[in-house]
Parts: sequence; C-alpha cells; structure tokens
Amino acid sequence: MRCLCCHKELVDGEEFVCLDCLLTFPLVDCTDEHNPLWTQLSGQVPFERATHLGYYQPGDNFSRLIAQAKYDDRPQHNAFLANLLCDRLEGSGWPYDVDVIVPVPVHWRRILQRGYNQVSPIVRTLEKRWHLPVMSNCLMRSHYTMSQVGMGANARQDHQRAAFTLWRGSRLRGKHVLLVDDVCTTGSTLVACAALLQEIEGVRVSVLTLAKTFRI
Ligand SMILES: [Zn+2]
Repeated sequence: MRCLCCHKELVDGEEFVCLDCLLTFPLVDCTDEHNPLWTQLSGQVPFERATHLGYYQPGDNFSRLIAQAKYDDRPQHNAFLANLLCDRLEGSGWPYDVDVIVPVPVHWRRILQRGYNQVSPIVRTLEKRWHLPVMSNCLMRSHYTMSQVGMGANARQDHQRAAFTLWRGSRLRGKHVLLVDDVCTTGSTLVACAALLQEIEGVRVSVLTLAKTFRI
C-alpha cells in the first residue's frame, strides 16, 4: 500500500499515510474544549461542544486529502481522517452524551452531479466507532446554494438560513445532536443548521468537522 499523500510505499506500522506526511498535518488539540472551531462558533448560536481535526489551508497534504474526497470521489480519504480524529479523541469524553448524528446535507442536485456525498464516509466512520445512530433525512437542503464568495457576512447568514428545512423534525425532540460536516469555512452553514435544529423542543447541538479554515 502506498501513502495517500506522497505515494511512497508504506512501511510496517503506517496506515494510509506515511509518518513523514502525517507529521506535516496542521492538526489542532481536538480534545481542548476551547479549540479553534469552538472559538469561531461560540457566541453565534448555543452549542454544547465543537471539535475538529486540523486547519484547512489549500495546497498542503492534509487539505489535499479533504479536497480530493470532495471533488474527486475519494471517500477513503475522509474515512481515514475521521478515524484519525476518533483516535485522537479517545479517552477525552467524546462523544459525551450525544444521541444521534446528523450530517450537514448536501443538495441532491450536487450529489447527482458528483455521484457521491463527501460527508457520508465521515458519518459512517463515527457511526461505527461510537455506535451512534444516524439521521440523515431530518435536515434537508432546500436551495441549491451558489458560491458565497463576495457576499457580506449578513447576506451570507440570510442566504444560509433559507437554504435548509426540517423534515419531521419532532423525531429529534429532546435529543443531543452531533452535527457533522467536512470543512467549516465561515461557519454560516453550521450556524444555520444548528439554529434550525434548536427550534425543535429540547434539542442540544454539538459540532464536529474534519477541518476549519483560518478565520475569514
Ligand atoms: Zn507520504
């Protein structure tokens, strides 16, 4: 087997990525309650907890794996990174008292276009590692969101809020929901989804992503 990043033959003890490449990953302390994702989201909407594996900075090994999962149909990349995140969270208390995993939805048109959903391998990994149920049809993407580049922060929030709807949301009543996405950029998607979920009685929300960009 070869390294997913540099394609060098892996040696004993290495899995998917060689040690040299792994050491270049811009990982954060995901067990720290006040990690960068938590800091970015706090104050925008009430969260229980938030965590992520590393920083997304286009061009490096780590971000290339995530980008290839999104644009090149490489589900094994996101599964590997989700497993790495679970490994690093081992013994930290995660996933605490989460009841159910809810992925940030990708619009069906985009799935049709690409033929896959890059968030699914992350969700499947968490489901397996943490023995949690997944509810992927509660939160729906109602609009096909266009690129938000160039939009101001307020316009982006409005745009995002209108992009999601709940379907039979009462199924989540009283539950602690783990909202999962691959990358957090402005945070507006996660905030919009969390705000919508919290309209359901008794719902608490925690958030997990593989990566976040530096604050923009
Ligand atoms: Zn390598």
